[in-house]
Amino acid sequence: MFEDVVAQVGRWSARWLESLSTRPVGVPVDAADVRAGVDDHLPDRGEPVDRVLSDLTRAWEPGLVASAGPRYFGFVTGGALPAAVGAEWLVTAADQNAATYVMSPAAAVIEDVAAAWVLDLLRLPDDAALGFVTGAQMANVTCLAAARRSLLAARGWDDGADGLAGAPVPTVLVGDQAHATLTQALRLLGLGSARAVRVAVDDQGRMRADALADRLDGVDGPVLVCAQAGNVATGACDPLDAIADLLSDRTESWLHVDGAFGLWAAAAPARQHLVAGAERADSWAVDAHKWLNVPYDCAMAVVRDPAALTGALTTSAAYLPLGDLDPSARTPENSRRARAVPVYAALRSLGRDGVADLVERCCALASQAALELGRHDRVRILNDVVLNQVLVRADGVDARDLAAAVQRDGTCWVGTTVWDGEPAVRFSVSNWSTTPADVTRSTTRILELLDAL
Ligand SMILES: *Cc1c(COP(=O)(O)O)cnc(C)c1O
Repeated sequence: MFEDVVAQVGRWSARWLESLSTRPVGVPVDAADVRAGVDDHLPDRGEPVDRVLSDLTRAWEPGLVASAGPRYFGFVTGGALPAAVGAEWLVTAADQNAATYVMSPAAAVIEDVAAAWVLDLLRLPDDAALGFVTGAQMANVTCLAAARRSLLAARGWDDGADGLAGAPVPTVLVGDQAHATLTQALRLLGLGSARAVRVAVDDQGRMRADALADRLDGVDGPVLVCAQAGNVATGACDPLDAIADLLSDRTESWLHVDGAFGLWAAAAPARQHLVAGAERADSWAVDAHKWLNVPYDCAMAVVRDPAALTGALTTSAAYLPLGDLDPSARTPENSRRARAVPVYAALRSLGRDGVADLVERCCALASQAALELGRHDRVRILNDVVLNQVLVRADGVDARDLAAAVQRDGTCWVGTTVWDGEPAVRFSVSNWSTTPADVTRSTTRILELLDAL
């Protein structure tokens, strides 16, 4: 029974994974067309497994995007390393509940090891607490929940018991280019998104330390500063050392770093300087499914003071006592998949050098793309390409039209953003399998399409 299922799924998966580098990347399809292929009749009687799976793989294929392939440069999208794909399957097959040590000692122990490796590679304090969550969105929520609890506890307020009404709520300061998920975290935690003080940024989208100093000047009570490592448009990182300096003589402060992809710069010796000072923060959000190239969904919430994290998140019930060993004491979830296992496998298959090389290679490929695109006389590269992001505009054409033409063509995939009030094309290199030839093939095609517009 299971042999057949695994063989069937294995055949489809191998074909799909092998085809990623050659198939059209993500040509636009009509949702109605995809829908037409999907059997939407809930059967009264169950159907044989092999038919369910073969219908599924046939029906969803038109709507699949080769976003894990080497020429998908949209958003900040990682692929999936072979070891991580394999480990992800093992997780599904073993179907462990990674909530507590008792439910799965295996999942808990591997999570501990993976956590230690991540802290080591990112050069974060080795006694910090780390929870594996679904994405940087939830990592931001998790870290800021710990921040909220810690800052309020210092004022004698128990937010867990008493909520926020009447609480001495901290002043929240965020860079004007903070990621939308950071704002969402503030909303979900009752800290308010509009209430947050927006700090001016420079031309690369970095929080300006002098502007932060000005904003902090008038603030007496507790402050929560949310910095960023890796702007989604430019890749630029906030000046973390200078920001930490500004907070160093404040007793009631918390520095959070949203480093969804940018914090991985810490793992590459030639890029480490971009995130210098990151280790001085109180909490860090970092994705695994972006630059580490494990399958969705996986990210890490790291908090310097373990008690702040577990204090904010531990739940306990008579039948489900939680201790420090229990993974779910460090995350908002209760039952959860063993999502640290693919991280463990990815890191083992790469090794320390391999992680550094992955980061460095993507950055070099981004520079290559900027160079090749920038040779065209109508193209302007809008950012300093310091990391893996390239921001592009072409004279005489709306960036959205250029991106749409690229998407229709299917050689590669790029998206858009608004930069300085105008549309711009974003080109992000975050995939382990992207080669210099992939970049050249993509930039050549983008420029041909530009000429044709
Ligand atoms: C991608 C990103 C996020 C959100 O991450 P998800 O994994 O999509 O939840 C948050 N912050 C930054 C800076 C990002 O680049």
